[in-house]
Amino acid sequence: MEPVIGLEIHVELKTKSKMFCSCSADYFGHEPNTHCCPVCIGLPGALPVPNKTAIDWCIMIGLALNCKIPLFSKFDRKNYFYPDLPKGYQISQYDQPFCIKGDVEIKIDDKDKSIGITRVHMEEDTGKLIHSTVNGKEVSLVDFNRSGVPLVEIVTDPDFKNAKEVKVFLQRLQQIVRYLGVSNADMEKGDMRLEPNISLRIKGEKSLPKYKVEVKNINSFKFVEKAINYEIERQKEILESGQTPEQETRGFNEQKGKTVSQRSKEEAHDYRYFPEPDIPPIKLTDLEIDALKDNMPELPDAKLERFKKEYLLSAYDSEILTREKSTADYFEEAVKIGKDHNISPKQIANTIINKKVDIVNVLPAELVKTIVAGTQTTQIDKKELEEIIKKVLAENPKAVEDYKNGKENAIMFLIGNIIRRIGKRINPNQLKEIIIRLIK
Ligand SMILES: [Zn+2]
Repeated sequence: MEPVIGLEIHVELKTKSKMFCSCSADYFGHEPNTHCCPVCIGLPGALPVPNKTAIDWCIMIGLALNCKIPLFSKFDRKNYFYPDLPKGYQISQYDQPFCIKGDVEIKIDDKDKSIGITRVHMEEDTGKLIHSTVNGKEVSLVDFNRSGVPLVEIVTDPDFKNAKEVKVFLQRLQQIVRYLGVSNADMEKGDMRLEPNISLRIKGEKSLPKYKVEVKNINSFKFVEKAINYEIERQKEILESGQTPEQETRGFNEQKGKTVSQRSKEEAHDYRYFPEPDIPPIKLTDLEIDALKDNMPELPDAKLERFKKEYLLSAYDSEILTREKSTADYFEEAVKIGKDHNISPKQIANTIINKKVDIVNVLPAELVKTIVAGTQTTQIDKKELEEIIKKVLAENPKAVEDYKNGKENAIMFLIGNIIRRIGKRINPNQLKEIIIRLIK
């Protein structure tokens, strides 16, 4: 048997306003039903106006995933009934999405593998049900703050063979979306939601299995791996007993580590899709698409290659430094400052990687200072030095506390502070010893 796995991923965009109205899309943690208007609570007669930035960002995601961008696209109504969907339909895209036919390269055990992207389309998020107890009665409450927040759905081809490939792909996708700056892609806040579909076929068979099981709304990489592995085993057992698994939608029970049946899987015709009559079709020009391309930030792969060439770093160092955009930016800032002090990019890369520098609290300039200090030493009166260190420790109780709690990086912050106070270059290793002794 061989697993056939595809993915649907929902990414919430961090635009200022919602998809079809001017309500703030920054709803997380806010009082329920305070980010609403007639459009996003679906009052009769309210008219949707598409958010241009959201559409641009959706297309940018498509471009980053090597998709084709058709010049003609439209919105459709996806009809279904659920209490968190006030209009009775979701505005989505059916047969003419913004982006189609892309691919993403991932590395599995040092080998490249290409994952096909079926489509990337734009839609709106639903409200949220809150199950609670009011006056001793169990009730379900609806919060419409999330209703109408821009949501991009990315659908992959069924190209994955196991949970590991899925995880590597998702990490890659999260990295790309964050580099683009269009979503925080924070799984815990629900910015990124995962729906794997899994089925099994006899090894070597070319056609897709006759059934498909979809697992809904998983919000962590760990759980998506667990859900896939559980499904593979469950379906294997059913197939080996001579039966075919049910075509259905299942949920993942995090406590039990199991998937559970929710409902039989809908077909597209169950949703009675039809073109959204209140929004004219979207027509793009090649010029507009080129302008979006030109405005895209440098993506992880390009940055990695540039780091190797421009700073003469190894592939390993470049990969670590470009994993997060914030680290890459920090490195480049430090390189600029280091140039004036004859500090090489390699020295800076080594320090950031080996000393696990806390890039939130240590400024690039401070980092460069400590490296400069490490290359030269100055004698200083021991008593005078201890006095300065004691003062800095007293002024920075948080850093001291962090260090005591095992955050080694906090020391770097203190060293930078002390060196600035002394105004002379001093061996940071010697400093570190004294600081640790004094903290203890
Ligand atoms: Zn609204």
